[in-house]
Amino acid sequence: MTPPLPTHNIRRHVVILGAGASRACCPNGDAVGKNLPVIADFIDTLKLRPKLETAGVFVDGEDFEALYSRLMTSGKYPVLVKDLEDEVFNYFTELRLPKEPTIYDHLVLSLRSKDLIASFNWDPFLIQAMGRCSLIAEPPHCLHLHGNVATGYCFQHERPSIGDRGENCRQCAEPFVDSQLLYPVAQKNYTADPLIAFAWKFVQASLKDCFLLTIFGYGAPATDVEAVNLMKEGWGDVNDRVMEETEIIDIRSDEDLRSTWDSFIHSHHYQTHNTFYDSMLGLLPRRSVEMMFRQLVEAEFIEHFPLPKDANWEELRDWVRPFVEQEKIAANASGA
Ligand SMILES: [Zn+2]
Repeated sequence: MTPPLPTHNIRRHVVILGAGASRACCPNGDAVGKNLPVIADFIDTLKLRPKLETAGVFVDGEDFEALYSRLMTSGKYPVLVKDLEDEVFNYFTELRLPKEPTIYDHLVLSLRSKDLIASFNWDPFLIQAMGRCSLIAEPPHCLHLHGNVATGYCFQHERPSIGDRGENCRQCAEPFVDSQLLYPVAQKNYTADPLIAFAWKFVQASLKDCFLLTIFGYGAPATDVEAVNLMKEGWGDVNDRVMEETEIIDIRSDEDLRSTWDSFIHSHHYQTHNTFYDSMLGLLPRRSVEMMFRQLVEAEFIEHFPLPKDANWEELRDWVRPFVEQEKIAANASGA
């Protein structure tokens, strides 16, 4: 198949990832079968219940974030709070992507360097996928909106350094600072951690000028009301986004998703899918914006060119290669 030509200086595709995406990426656990928690089963997946019970803490139907927030703000459990922070950090740090290509690899390869993935997840999967897919194609931008175990930073300079956790800053050679994962919910103001504040600024600017928005496995929990407000601020008034398309990949029903994300949807300009492979990313990889522009603005009929979801690494590399070659030719022709 000859891929459709890329357009230079085209608008972005922004993807927001939540815990449901990591679980869809590793439905049977990570490389060694370690399970991915979602907020509803977080305490039990991380086996935190015995620790809480020993400390005399009763979990009364709260999710982990609400519980952490209560313990932290009470000031009565400093040892337990530190212990929980370490447990969470260590659990996520150890997670490894399975060897064969996963949904996260497909996601990274379905986008170009102009695009952005902003993740709410603490796990290192996206960073790991970016690392291995960068051998095939230049990856999109990637940011973590709630901190991440694989990312470190140094903000001692005018231009911040962000890189892999455990590395040193390229500007001052000091070790990177770990990003903070847990905050009491009431103080989740997104300015306390400079890395998170930086991420949000970038995401808001990207939401302003993106043409396509995909929300993948992010349920907008009540504890994230501030995050959703920030996203909304970036997206702006839905009546100013009449050509743009919003897409939601989630196992919930269409009706439920439509009502959750109503303030991001103009009229009928939205789609919901149960799997990544039925989405604009899975069906129009690396050309989603070009193709959706033709469909939505120029009313053209477009054909899909689905990403080969069962391909091994070699087959996947061969499949992506013609796309990358065309992108290089287009970039050279435009003098970029
Ligand atoms: Zn530095």
